[in-house]
Amino acid sequence: MTSAAPARVGVIGAGRMGGGIAQTFAQAGSRVTLVDNGEQAARQGLARITDSLQRAADRGLLSEAAETVAARITPAASLSDLPADTVLVVEAVFEDATLKAGILADVEKTVGPQTLLATNTSSLSVTELAAALDRPERFLGMHFFNPVPASALVELVTAPATARDTLERTLDFVHALGKKDVVVKDSPGFASSRLGVALGLEAIRMVEEGVAEPEAIDDAMTLGYKHPMGPLRLTDLVGLDVRLSIAEYLHATLGERFAPPRLLRDKVARGELGRKSGKGFYTWQ
Ligand code: NAD
Repeated sequence: MTSAAPARVGVIGAGRMGGGIAQTFAQAGSRVTLVDNGEQAARQGLARITDSLQRAADRGLLSEAAETVAARITPAASLSDLPADTVLVVEAVFEDATLKAGILADVEKTVGPQTLLATNTSSLSVTELAAALDRPERFLGMHFFNPVPASALVELVTAPATARDTLERTLDFVHALGKKDVVVKDSPGFASSRLGVALGLEAIRMVEEGVAEPEAIDDAMTLGYKHPMGPLRLTDLVGLDVRLSIAEYLHATLGERFAPPRLLRDKVARGELGRKSGKGFYTWQ
C-alpha cells in the first residue's frame, strides 16, 4: 500500500520550522492551515514559504508550479480557524513548555475527536506535554529537521499514552512526505539531540584541553568517520546558545556527562554564537 499525505493539516507557528513543515505537507498534496499569532505573522510566514517554493521551482525541485503548491496553504490568525476535519495538527511555536501545553489543550477543543496532534519540540518532554490533553492517546512528538523540505528524517517520539494507531498513521504520513522515520520512546534529547549534543560537547572539551584545533577535530569526524559535517562546524550552524540550552536541559535530566564545558559558556557570554553572530569556533563572513 502506498502512503497518502493527510488531506488537511494544521500547523501552529509560521516560523522557520512551521513554515518548512507547512511547505512540505503542501508539496505532498495536503491542504494546510497555517496559524500564527495574528494575521500579519501568518501572512508573513506564507510569504516566506512562497519565496522558498519559488527557489525550489527555479532549481527544478518541484513537480508542480510554485503557485499551485502555495495555494494549498491558508494563513490563519487563530486556532479557532482550524477546520474540524483537520487530520493532523503539528505544533511548532517557541520552545516553551507552558506555551506549547496551552496551545495543544486549545487545539484539542477546536478540532474533531479523530484529529492527531503532534509537537515539533526538539527537547521538551512529550510525556509532560501529553498531560495537558484530555485524549493523550492521539498525541506524539514529530521532530522535523531544519531545513524541513530538504531533510531526510522525521524522529517520531512516543509517550507512554500514545496509541499504536496514532504512531502507525503518523508513520504513514512521514512516508508520504518522502522522508524516513526513526521511532524513539520519549526521553530527554530523544535519539538525535542526545547523541548529537554528546559528540558536540566532547569536541568542545577537546578544544578546551588543547588536544587539537577545531579544523582538525572536525576533519577527524568528516574524513575518518564519514560524518557530513564536523561537530564544531555543526555547533556553529545550530548556534552555540541553542546548544548550550539543550546541554543544560540534558545535564539536569541525564546527569554530569552533559555538563556544559566552560568554553561553551564563555563563548556564549561573549556573544560568539556561531554563524549568526559571525564567530563561534570558526569565523563566518
Ligand atoms: P521560530 O521562532 O522561527 O518560530 C516560532 C513561531 O511560533 C513564530 O512565528 C511565532 O510567532 C509563533 N508563535 C509563538 N507563539 C504563538 C502562538 N501563541 N500561536 C501561534 N503562533 C505562535 O522557531 P523555530 O526555529 O521554527 O522553532 C519552533 C519549534 O521547533 C521549537 O519547539 C523548536 O525547538 C523546534 N525545532 C527547531 C529546530 C531548528 O533548527 N530551528 C529544529 C527542530 C525543532
